[in-house]
Amino acid sequence: MNNTDTTQQFLDSLPEIEPDTSFAFGCHPEVPCFNACCSDLHLMLTPFDVLRLRRFLKESSNDFIKNRADVHLAPDTGLPLFRLRMCDDSRKSCPFVRKEGCSIYPDRPGACRTYPLGRATRTDKEGNVLERFFLVREAHCRGFEQTTQWTPAQWLKDQGLEAYNTNNDRFMLLLARIKETGHPVDPRHSNMAALALYQLDNFAQFLSDTKLLERLEMDDTRKEAIAQDEEARLEFAIEWLELIMFGDGKTLRPKS
Ligand code: SF4
Ligand code: SF4
Repeated sequence: MNNTDTTQQFLDSLPEIEPDTSFAFGCHPEVPCFNACCSDLHLMLTPFDVLRLRRFLKESSNDFIKNRADVHLAPDTGLPLFRLRMCDDSRKSCPFVRKEGCSIYPDRPGACRTYPLGRATRTDKEGNVLERFFLVREAHCRGFEQTTQWTPAQWLKDQGLEAYNTNNDRFMLLLARIKETGHPVDPRHSNMAALALYQLDNFAQFLSDTKLLERLEMDDTRKEAIAQDEEARLEFAIEWLELIMFGDGKTLRPKS
């Protein structure tokens, strides 16, 4: 069973919450369990999580991978999976938790933002992403005793999840296409995905060395954005992986 199947089974076991239904929740230093959940986590990092963390920490991807990530290959897709490495202390604490809270709060991973919601998505025939929400009500979490009311949409907005969900949904579409083939990508594509998705600084160097963008139909504005901006580079990376894996990218065409 793969990670996505396990997540789906977990979500299906939880109460679904309708988009216009409110729940009471609050997480702040006055909550008695503050910081209790920031340890011993299997915290998966998406490419966008890694981008935001590296940007906040001002770290190269080489240093990030060496010092902060546990990486293994997903058997179903053959793509690397990144997990945040917990500290080697008795609690297996998150490396970013401090007495006063999360030390990387503005760029904390999407999973930390989403809790106590679970979010499941599927794509309709027109390619629109459809969302369902679930409430992850854990016994140790005293945040549910707080009185502030949220709908799922209000929670997502408050937690700054729009950019995370947009980027992560795009990444999930790539994974879904690979899974549809019924076999993992070959090692060459796996290595390229590790570079293009998770090492955006090294990927910039690769683009410069190979002059890859010169060989694609693309206007100068987008070329400049890809060269300068890691978010534009990640968007390009996913399309380019689709081009080399499936022969089509959403907007990318090789020059004839
Ligand atoms: S990244 Fe921040 S919010 Fe997430 S587990 Fe670590 S300390 Fe907690
Ligand atoms: S257990 Fe719940 S309330 Fe307590 S710190 Fe974690 S999310 Fe916040």
